Amino acid sequence: MTTDDLAFDQRHIWHPYTSITSPLPVYPVERAEGCELILSNGERLVDGMSSWWAAIHGYNHPQLNAAMKTQIDTMSHVMFGGITHAPAVNLCRKLVAMTPERLECVFLADSGSVAVEVAMKMALQYWRALGESRQQFLTFRNGYHGDTFGAMSVCDPENSMHSLWKGYLPDNLFAPAPQSRMDGEWDERDMVAFARLMAAHRNEIAAVILEPIVQGAGGMRMYHPEWLRRIRKMCDREGILLIADEIATGFGRTGKLFACEHADITPDILCLGKALTGGTMTLSATLTTRNIAETISNGEAGCFMHGPTFMGNPLACAVATASLSLLETGEWQHQVAAIETQLRAELSPAAQSPWVADVRVLGAIGVVETTHPVNMAALQRFFVEQGVWIRPFGKLIYLMPPYLIQPEQLRKLTQAVNDAVTQETFFIH
Ligand code: PMP
Repeated sequence: MTTDDLAFDQRHIWHPYTSITSPLPVYPVERAEGCELILSNGERLVDGMSSWWAAIHGYNHPQLNAAMKTQIDTMSHVMFGGITHAPAVNLCRKLVAMTPERLECVFLADSGSVAVEVAMKMALQYWRALGESRQQFLTFRNGYHGDTFGAMSVCDPENSMHSLWKGYLPDNLFAPAPQSRMDGEWDERDMVAFARLMAAHRNEIAAVILEPIVQGAGGMRMYHPEWLRRIRKMCDREGILLIADEIATGFGRTGKLFACEHADITPDILCLGKALTGGTMTLSATLTTRNIAETISNGEAGCFMHGPTFMGNPLACAVATASLSLLETGEWQHQVAAIETQLRAELSPAAQSPWVADVRVLGAIGVVETTHPVNMAALQRFFVEQGVWIRPFGKLIYLMPPYLIQPEQLRKLTQAVNDAVTQETFFIH
């Protein structure tokens, strides 16, 4: 990339959550290979992010590439209305087989946010079909479910600035974020506010929506599995649906194939995305039970009211099937367990820094929460100088590497984090 390209980028192209007038620096990546990103100046960075939870098998994976190349030569895309094809059928067969038995009807869409919109719409249409006007969703604070309006309406009201959209966003119900930690004791008092909210609005709530076990972009918080068991029971008692957003946690990241397995519960609606295609293409899936799917289909609309242009995109389905085949070998379990052990050992020194509030690890996720917000541009530069790709935000420096990362590569990442958190200059105070 030339300096001219970079100047064009800076002037004309939005990046995620940035200003067009004072954008944060961006680093030109030319290639990606295994667990490394290769910058246009030839520098190699060990990837600590899996491109936001997605590239679980690393980059340029021969089996994923082969699946895409074969599919391109057959058909990259064809509409899904009135047409079906083997890539979609093969993928959905695998999804139905690998998720809990009750989840057997699949809706394919093009991104995580849309999967959440679809899940919310399914819940609304389900209640409408039953002749009940239930329009509210109950969720936790500190949640994150995407950037489209429905999804935003169940994101943490402060983090996602609900004040900006007042009067436009639907008003949903927010219980305090879980306090009982994944690595701590269950505290019965944790449930009180949630249970009260549910009881007070039992006839208005269409569904509870949550990220099981790990609240991702809303704070990288890891909570006790008892929460999920209790919520499942409460939803069953009230007949309220439970939507699990496993877009970030799905496909092994937390040490279980799906995070709901930590509590041995099955949601009524499950959202998947990100790692679904091994981080190669955008695709999501929303799964539900036959009962919900049939109830919706027997309602006044006679169908489920959604159908995106790129629904069931064959290229994305083919590579997703290849990614799931890699998971089916079971190798990920050993890899994630080894990453967890190494993260626990190597991130623990970070807790000694006066700038660190908490260190927590689950599966292939390592989080260092700092006492003050980080200076993102300065810290990002430091990490690049250390030969690692880590993208901190707010008070969070976190690692979620591809599963096939080698111990010495992971050490480079943890070393860089430990070095960074001792340096006052990286904190805004
Ligand atoms: N749900 C969760 C839990 C997520 O982490 C994300 C993305 N970070 C989304 C939904 C939205 O997915 P996408 O960015 O693909 O729209």
